[in-house]
Amino acid sequence: MTDAAQLVRPAPAVDGERRRLVVLSIDAMSDVDVPFARTLPHFARILDGAWGSAQAIYPTVTYPNHTSQTTGRTAAGHGIYANEKVSPGVRLPSWFWDARDIACPTIFDLAKEKGLTSASVGWPVTGWSPSIDIAVPEIWDRAGLEQTLAILREASSPRGLEYVDRHAHEISWTKKHVFGRFNTSVATDIIRTETPDVLFVHLVDVDSARHSTGRFTPEVKQAFERVDGWIGEILTALEDAGIAEETNVAIVSDHGHVEVGRCFRANRVLVENGLVRLDEAGEVSSWDAWVHGCGLTGQLHLHPEADDAAREKVLAVVQEWVEDPEVPVAAFHPLADMREDYGYSGPFLGVLEGTSGTNFQNLWEGRSLYGRFDEDYTFLISQHGHLPEQDIQAVFAMTGPDIAQGVRFTGCTVSDEAVTFAHLLGLELPDADGAVVSETLRVPAQLA
Ligand SMILES: [Zn+2]
Repeated sequence: MTDAAQLVRPAPAVDGERRRLVVLSIDAMSDVDVPFARTLPHFARILDGAWGSAQAIYPTVTYPNHTSQTTGRTAAGHGIYANEKVSPGVRLPSWFWDARDIACPTIFDLAKEKGLTSASVGWPVTGWSPSIDIAVPEIWDRAGLEQTLAILREASSPRGLEYVDRHAHEISWTKKHVFGRFNTSVATDIIRTETPDVLFVHLVDVDSARHSTGRFTPEVKQAFERVDGWIGEILTALEDAGIAEETNVAIVSDHGHVEVGRCFRANRVLVENGLVRLDEAGEVSSWDAWVHGCGLTGQLHLHPEADDAAREKVLAVVQEWVEDPEVPVAAFHPLADMREDYGYSGPFLGVLEGTSGTNFQNLWEGRSLYGRFDEDYTFLISQHGHLPEQDIQAVFAMTGPDIAQGVRFTGCTVSDEAVTFAHLLGLELPDADGAVVSETLRVPAQLA
């Protein structure tokens, strides 16, 4: 929440002139990346406007934060409390892909009401959107490219479909999906063809490079250089379409990263305590409690039909974890505390916070603990999901006709970003937890 919390009424952008908005999410870009990003020509164009650090919401994972950036709410308000849907015993759960899971209005809903044309490309939780005119959402099927294209077509809006078909050959699939090239081509095609009023684009290359190689590696640097070229293509498309002068352009990100030291399979310990039961094939047959990993934290779920004895047993196991220095769980935060301190809520008892660098895995076989120096450690090198005030922060930068130039601001959150976007479009997000970041604006927002 910024000092601008007293702003309650959005002003029209500038004297009734037409205003458009493009938001580019550079997943896992952090504030310490800014000096390097300033050496890249297209990042620099946006960072030369107004920029500052942005605190993520808890959990500091991708889907909850991207939903705050379109709603102005924390997870308790928008309902997207994790990346993946909680699915005990399922090895590859579905993610929160469906926009209909969002529990409050989004900026896309408000844009539609006002008659603005909106588009999203690769933006989380925009599948099957009732409001986005041209939606090409982030969605995949790990089974392969053919299955991914089938579900992507199903989740895209009818007008988004033609862009999927025109650019499907640009999705690369080696060990997993890579959408950066595809998303950029779709976004530039949409800009030139449709000149939308509102466009949100998600680019994931920096995050992927960090997960697989570490926080500050040559691969991460290359990812930034690649993304800079894509930002350049998008800015060029705005110029080609003749709308660059009337478009405010933002860079946002959703979280930083922390080096991973170990992986903790809490559900393995729950199996050993009889709270998760396996069949003869080693698959989960029933459960009383389940830890759903959100990166560096885990949600403790209790089965809806579990009795008081099971509840007491699992809370006793968790207390042992917190007290045992050999178990990498630093604390258990009950849900009421999470709601009050972070606006974090969901269908679970509370949150397990790992010791620094502990990644929670959902799996239930093997050992409960895998250290980075173990020969069979083949998992992520860096991760997020930690408490939002810990470690390096996300980034918010803007440039454009309504944006102050050469400004550095502080104290912003991802929820404030959404409220600022709405303000620039003359919209108002109801019940927002955030406020307009007034330091970004060339013309100060009107006070009530
Ligand atoms: Zn992310």
